[in-house]
Amino acid sequence: MAKNGKIIVCKFGGSSAADAEKFRVIKNVVLSNCKRKIIVVSAPGKRFDGDEKVTDLLVEAAAERRKEIREKILRKVKERFYDFTALFGENTDKERVKKEIDCALDGSEGETLVSRGEFLSAKILAEFLGFDFADAKNLVKIRNERIDEDGCLRAAQEVKIGRGLVVPGFYGENERGEIKLLPRGGSDLTGAVLSFAFGTETYENFTDVDGVFDANPKEAGETRVGEKISYAQLRKFSQCGAKVMSAEACGFLRRFSVKTIIKKDDKGKCTVVSAATRYKGKFFASIAAVKVVIKKCDGISDGEFFADVFGAAKNIGLKIFSFFSKNDDLTIYFSHDCPRKIFEFSDYAKKRGFGVFACENVCLFNLFCNKKIAR
Ligand code: ASP
Repeated sequence: MAKNGKIIVCKFGGSSAADAEKFRVIKNVVLSNCKRKIIVVSAPGKRFDGDEKVTDLLVEAAAERRKEIREKILRKVKERFYDFTALFGENTDKERVKKEIDCALDGSEGETLVSRGEFLSAKILAEFLGFDFADAKNLVKIRNERIDEDGCLRAAQEVKIGRGLVVPGFYGENERGEIKLLPRGGSDLTGAVLSFAFGTETYENFTDVDGVFDANPKEAGETRVGEKISYAQLRKFSQCGAKVMSAEACGFLRRFSVKTIIKKDDKGKCTVVSAATRYKGKFFASIAAVKVVIKKCDGISDGEFFADVFGAAKNIGLKIFSFFSKNDDLTIYFSHDCPRKIFEFSDYAKKRGFGVFACENVCLFNLFCNKKIAR
């Protein structure tokens, strides 16, 4: 399919949309290039160390049954959004904007409530930019809990881009007409889906760093931005826990060959991700994992053993970072963030008659250098 080089999809993450000042920066960036016409925005992220992300507050509020506590949390969210009215001049009725904020937050529950962070961000940004607001529920179609590609293509054809559109990230609409959240960090995926649906050549992903670093700056003294990397490299790095872009979004961009540019602004360095480019250096990912070694019992084939073990891990909902097998042992590195599921898994393996030999916290390093494990 021929790509549209006249339109760029831009996504601004939570840290780039944390407060009114950041919205001014977004406006300069967007208006400096007339191709930047489809803007995806996240809910406001942290403004400083120790601050709260709006989405985290909304998740808390949606789960809270006690009315006064829920209202207290929502109050904080409202205050965050009221601050954005500082962007508007006399021509905008600020009281009207505040009422819209109250109404969106007081009138929603569950996933819809959690999605209101992105919804309000996009509403306010659209008004500030003079672009149209295009609700993600009309553009990001979900069917059987997956992105419905045909539905998204059809939806994109029905939309007029005009001066430009601002679309909330992180959610879409399912076949029953309900608002469904994408996984956390899902605005990346919204940007990827819209790049595909509108057939754009380029997707610019604005974040708080200059691109993809070859290691976590907090753990490695010296780091470099990988100026050109492949989708496969970015996907692997993300799967290893690097918070760059979700593996699902990478997969999407790769399948539809959308050139992706990850950057902080137009001045600094950036990372270009495409099929044709590849980073020649080494990436270092360091992630906490739980190592479990499972020994096959007598009387079953390797195939049955693997199917049984991986099937159980999948059913329990465990995330696997890496695995290898040697003789009758299968070593799996699981995400460390859900100990209860690990116990459930090892109980299951024991009941099946497999030996469960080790359960320990480890740190995975250097997945890109074939040197699998270090303590
Ligand atoms: N606001 C959502 C989150 O915090 C989605 C996103 O930022 O992409 O996960």
